[in-house]
Amino acid sequence: MMTNSKQHNDWSDVFVNIDPTAEPHYLNAISHTVQQLSTMITAIDAPYSGLEPAQLNERIKAMPIGKAPIAPLADIISNNVDLIGKNSIIVQHPHCIAHLHTPPLIPALAAETIISALNQSMDSWDQASSATYVEQKMTDWLCELFGYNLEQSATSNGADGVFTSGGTQSNLMGLLLARDRAVEQISGESVQKDGLPSYAKKLRILCSKTSHFTVQKSASLMGLGERAVVTVATDDFGRLDINALTATIADLQSQDLIPFCVVGTAGTTDLGAIDDLQAIAAISEQHSMWFHVDGAYGGALILSSHKDRLAGIELADSISTDFHKLFFQPISCGALLIRDKHNFKYLLHHADYLNRETDELPNLVDKSIATTKRFDALKLLMSMQALGTDKFGAMYDHLISLTQDVAALVTATDKFDLLAQPQLSTVLFRYNHLCSGNDVTIEHEEEISVINQRLRLDLLTAGQAVLGETKINGYTCLKLTILNPCLQLNDFESLFTKIADFAAEQDYINN
Ligand SMILES: *Cc1c(COP(=O)(O)O)cnc(C)c1O
Repeated sequence: MMTNSKQHNDWSDVFVNIDPTAEPHYLNAISHTVQQLSTMITAIDAPYSGLEPAQLNERIKAMPIGKAPIAPLADIISNNVDLIGKNSIIVQHPHCIAHLHTPPLIPALAAETIISALNQSMDSWDQASSATYVEQKMTDWLCELFGYNLEQSATSNGADGVFTSGGTQSNLMGLLLARDRAVEQISGESVQKDGLPSYAKKLRILCSKTSHFTVQKSASLMGLGERAVVTVATDDFGRLDINALTATIADLQSQDLIPFCVVGTAGTTDLGAIDDLQAIAAISEQHSMWFHVDGAYGGALILSSHKDRLAGIELADSISTDFHKLFFQPISCGALLIRDKHNFKYLLHHADYLNRETDELPNLVDKSIATTKRFDALKLLMSMQALGTDKFGAMYDHLISLTQDVAALVTATDKFDLLAQPQLSTVLFRYNHLCSGNDVTIEHEEEISVINQRLRLDLLTAGQAVLGETKINGYTCLKLTILNPCLQLNDFESLFTKIADFAAEQDYINN
């Protein structure tokens, strides 16, 4: 006989529940998880455990899933932290330095706890009441931060933005709006309603040779094909060459092709190059082309003392910015900002069940590719509240000057070559067993490439260091992407000693 007026069933206590009897389950599970995880992380001494990848795969495959619970939740948590956690790539470790991949901020992790428990969905107000206003507040804040005007003016209905899953989605959205506006302007057709126009094969997107591959990927997804992307030559620093851009536009027009969009990059993935955004804006304007800025990496500089390197970004029609990179947010978190909110109309689709035309409350799905969407804006808000924007700026300044020091260290260290002067927070270098400074023949170039490829993989799987690998001038090189503001120069001194010792032990030349 139930005495409580509330009806219980067999699963009430596995949910975050308004039923107070579920509360201890929730509190215990989360606090046990955080305890296990923080103990694990503070005991870490390598960026990867060094467990042989095939063995790791076997152990994960062997994890049981049964008809009944396999163990109490506390044990499941501990076991998963033990196997999955300990064999993860440890982003907190000073020698985990390959990608635009960052240790997450504590205030953002606190926010993630709120985000996941509240489980708001950003598509409609009736699934995200306060969350809708938080996202709108943050996109407004970002628009103003990047120099956009929220108010209506002669050239815009006011700026707006939307949170996305990251740079890939933001770039796709920016280019999609660009395409749909171009077609509407050229022939009055609606791509959204009628698909691609008869002249679609003539449409061209311009970007530099060092732009992110998602420009091509977006063109492919948009039905224009990767060949619709024309890459423009770069200068010695990997920045889009402005004269080459003008010449390429003229060349395309003379072939009766239609360049409708230019992508400028604020921070290329390898070199960290920032294009001359002001010059690109002027050229785009002159040719009535959409100007999209991919600021997934370097957009964060807007908070730093290097802010003027982004001059002209406020003239872009759209800006991609990523918070799971230099804003140190847990994955995923990004945004697309647009100078004229009117252009979000190309994404608008009304569904009777979700975002009716008559709705007075805002439904953010109106300007999004995603429908169900995470409440990621909260973690950016709480991070900004907890740290203040000055601290972010100071961290970027530290990373940029640290990167210069690391480059100088590479130059001064025997057996390493610096391959490019850093512009943001990446260092392109290689291990050179012949010692730096010596003339290297083509044959040696190839040998050095192969050694560096093997070196990166062996350092990774042995759990010694997680380094990036890319190509510069056709040859393999190693890359450090310095995103962890807690690092100091001595972390790199020990890294280079470790790499050189490891390479010497492997005896790559004779094997
Ligand atoms: C990381 C990156 C992207 C892709 O962003 P995701 O968040 O990984 O989807 C696009 N452009 C640049 C310049 C980047 O650095």
